[in-house]
Amino acid sequence: MPYLVRDRLFIGDINAAANILQNGSTEITHVLSLLSSASISFFSDWRSSVVIPTKEIRKVFVGGSECNSSVEDEVEGSKKDVRSDKLLYSLEMAGPDLKLVRMAVPLRDMENEDLLDYLDVCLDFIDESRKEGSVLVHCFAGVSRSAAVITAYLMRTEQLSQEDALYSLQQSCEFVCPNDGFLDQLKMFEDMGFKIDHSSSIYKRFHLKVLGDCYNRGEKIDTSKFGADPGLPTESEPSKVAPNEDKPTRAYRCKKCRRVVAVQENVVDHTPGEGETCFQWEKRKSGNPFNRSDEGECSSIFVEPLRWMTTAVEEGALEGKLSCAHCEARLGYFNWSGIQCSCGSWITPAFQLHKSRVDLSTL
Ligand SMILES: [Zn+2]
Ligand SMILES: [Zn+2]
Repeated sequence: MPYLVRDRLFIGDINAAANILQNGSTEITHVLSLLSSASISFFSDWRSSVVIPTKEIRKVFVGGSECNSSVEDEVEGSKKDVRSDKLLYSLEMAGPDLKLVRMAVPLRDMENEDLLDYLDVCLDFIDESRKEGSVLVHCFAGVSRSAAVITAYLMRTEQLSQEDALYSLQQSCEFVCPNDGFLDQLKMFEDMGFKIDHSSSIYKRFHLKVLGDCYNRGEKIDTSKFGADPGLPTESEPSKVAPNEDKPTRAYRCKKCRRVVAVQENVVDHTPGEGETCFQWEKRKSGNPFNRSDEGECSSIFVEPLRWMTTAVEEGALEGKLSCAHCEARLGYFNWSGIQCSCGSWITPAFQLHKSRVDLSTL
């Protein structure tokens, strides 16, 4: 049985979803599936008696590329080979007479699973569905993944803190309990103002952590997701590197050849002297350590991985040198398992530029 959370918004488990997708519903018109596989075959693998007719509308991949069902049919055989992109979501018509709209987002119930990058599409789908009918958000047990997404939805629509939104959801469905990694990410979502702000330090640290997890799992690092090279202005969005009279952009240049190798917004701040800072969000007390200047005792700056580092990183080594893309002067190091700053903080993974090798100026 699905539980009513808000008008036209339900939460449930795979049983509730299978029942609706197989038999239809007088009330629910939209289904958001959060399962380890987005494929409808997940249901028949789970219980062979479940047969759900579907007609695919589209698949969208992380990074924005789309694939319509007609195109996909043509490349059926080689589909897996040509598609190395990660699926963001699939959309299909499902159920008796294909009357239900199902969106499926591949998400595992694991603490290091990237929830944040899927939130926008999930929350927008819930919003649209509630305008047209009623939506069921479900995962396998109806406890962690679906609860995390609905918590984020309540946070965004009702401007609630993570705690208040979860508490409110628990009034409808007392056993919901997103995993700790999801709770951390929901806290970041709150700190970013209920949106995914790719330019914020919070998101940059999170993204770095996700990349580090990919490396640790032995996956190929997708260097196309690296930050734009600030030394090639055409690569960056002009608005981001253009001199701004109110707030000039701080740029780090190679001391030897003056090429710009990083701008202030590439810097992933750390709090001097703290141990493992990555992901210790709870440690934040008063003030915002992300705004703290890095002038102190730190002999290095740490940045997000940038495209000029691609060659060094693509060899797959755990650590290596970072050299200037123009004059090849050594600027610093990267290490997926972390580097300790002179102030004592560990940054993991680390893309480090020595302050003695770069000059700070304005663009
Ligand atoms: Zn430091
Ligand atoms: Zn140089």
